[in-house]
Amino acid sequence: MTEELEIFRDSVHKFLDKEFVPNQERWGKQGYVDREAWYRAGEMGLLCASIPEQYGGGGGSFAHEAVINIEMTRALVNFGIGVHNGILAHYILAYGSEAQKQRWLPRMATGELVGAIAMSEPGVGSDLKSVKTRAVRDGDDYLINGSKTFITNGYHANLICVVCKTNPELGAKGISLVMVETEGQGGFRRGKLLEKIGQKAQDTAELFFDDVRVPQGNLLGAEEGRGFGQLMQQLPQERMIIALSAQASMHRAIEFTTDYVRQREVFGQQLSELQNTRFKLAECKTVATIATTFVDQCMMQLLAGQLDTTTAAMAKWWTTQKNCEVIDECLQLHGGYGYILEYPIARMYANARVSKIYGGSNEIMKELIARKIT
Ligand SMILES: Cc1cc2nc3c(=O)[nH]c(=O)nc-3n(C[C@H](O)[C@H](O)[C@H](O)COP(=O)(O)OP(=O)(O)OC[C@H]3O[C@@H](n4cnc5c(N)ncnc54)[C@H](O)[C@@H]3O)c2cc1C
Repeated sequence: MTEELEIFRDSVHKFLDKEFVPNQERWGKQGYVDREAWYRAGEMGLLCASIPEQYGGGGGSFAHEAVINIEMTRALVNFGIGVHNGILAHYILAYGSEAQKQRWLPRMATGELVGAIAMSEPGVGSDLKSVKTRAVRDGDDYLINGSKTFITNGYHANLICVVCKTNPELGAKGISLVMVETEGQGGFRRGKLLEKIGQKAQDTAELFFDDVRVPQGNLLGAEEGRGFGQLMQQLPQERMIIALSAQASMHRAIEFTTDYVRQREVFGQQLSELQNTRFKLAECKTVATIATTFVDQCMMQLLAGQLDTTTAAMAKWWTTQKNCEVIDECLQLHGGYGYILEYPIARMYANARVSKIYGGSNEIMKELIARKIT
């Protein structure tokens, strides 16, 4: 952290507290944040915080994304900014032509465009190279056909990076990333909002592409077939978004629980005085501290452009696994109240579960690590 990042953190905290926290319950019930929230986040400089100013961004580094991410976790806010800022905007920055960057990034920074990345399909998740969605050349255009599921920001997104096969015979080498602007786009349809057990205010939806016609200029990168490599290159950063949130979540869960056990009386004494409570919290705090230390180290490597895929995979699986374990212990200390959604620990329990599944499941993370050592 630097002084500038501390000031940024303070402004993010105040903004979330004033404008997002009071709406979370309502947004959770409707299954998506109000569209206006994206524009407000843009006005406050949260969108594209780590994108250069020449493209309308905040001119910060990934440390700014980390601050946003941690503050959102601490405030228990569900909002798909991790995908918009940390993933999609960086795909465009890394692989887009100058014209593509000028066309999309400034509008992503204001909230006019909401970004999504559409990889997963009903039949394909972990085994990404088997995606079925096709992009076929037709004159100067691509015709896209296929369906995607579990897409974060799927309800609001109007700029979607679609993972397609441009040459199905080539397996992973036949994958390309094609951008679709959805406004007025024939053949594009959103399916139902998927009802989740947690992260309820963050919209997750199915998307359908039925002869969706986009110019060939919407291909990300200079040539077809680079998509798989492009996805792999960005993965360490994406996994850090999840790990950052997981470590912050552990500390928050411990804070909520410490407050709770201090005021709860059992058998004539404070719950916090029982040795079991003290030892459980001591164990949780130890795990959270180790997680933060490791994630800090990974962040330093990431900022220096040196974070490798294996280390990022370790950070992702371990922190998300430990976060679920810590939250479970903390929930147990709340007794029955831990199961009631009015209590933050119950919402944290439901929010955390998916982090072991998405962003590459934890089993896939272990595969990646094992490949390096066996
Ligand atoms: C809330 C939410 C948001 C999401 N957001 C997005 C998004 O924005 N964009 C997007 O494209 N996707 C998104 N996803 C999808 C997510 O990335 C996938 O769910 C995930 O990659 C797992 O794929 P799957 O669900 O098809 O499971 P499968 O791949 O079918 O896996 C099922 C089980 O098998 C295990 N498994 C699979 N292969 C192996 C192996 N080789 N070795 C050992 N075990 C294995 C998995 O770990 C898992 O436990 C989201 C999912 C959720 C729930």
